[in-house]
Parts: sequence; structure tokens; C-alpha cells
Amino acid sequence: MTNPTGRNSGLTGTWKSRAWSSDERARNLERFLRTDPRDVGCDEAMAVLHIYVDLVAAGEDAAGRYPGVAAHLAACGPCDVDFAGLLLAVRVLGDSV
Ligand SMILES: [Zn+2]
Repeated sequence: MTNPTGRNSGLTGTWKSRAWSSDERARNLERFLRTDPRDVGCDEAMAVLHIYVDLVAAGEDAAGRYPGVAAHLAACGPCDVDFAGLLLAVRVLGDSV
């Protein structure tokens, strides 16, 4: 099959051209989602998540200060859920301070 654009579509092309088992697919999806080079990973994101949340809640440029954390939250569902929960808590509690 030739690619009409002449460009290598990379992961997406590989992705569609193979029939993976669901386990393999999950692993490859995970790897695909982690290809952002700025992604700091779960441990580091969690280590600064409270700071990140404070910045977001204060209307600061959290993603600009911590681009690696922003990249990670975009790629990691569980961490994004933690972030959303923490942000909600900060906003609710913040109103009473
Ligand atoms: Zn994570």
C-alpha cells in the first residue's frame, strides 16, 4: 500500500496495519500516549501536583511553569483524574479561606 502523501505516518500507520491482541493494544496505546518527550511520568507529576493545582486555581500559567506535568496529565488518565479531584477540592476549600 502506498501512502498518497508520501510521508511516513509513523505510529498511526503501524497501529492500523496490525491486528494486536487487546493486551498488546493496551501496551502499545500506553507507549503511544507516553511519546511526548516532555512527559515527566507519574511519580514526578504526583510530586508537584499540589503546586500545579494551586497555580491553576490561582489562574497562573501552570502549564507554562510545569510543561512536563501538563504533558503528563494530558497523557495519563489516572493522574488527570487526581488532578481534577484535587483542583475541585482546592476550589471548594479556597472559597472558604
Ligand atoms: Zn500518571
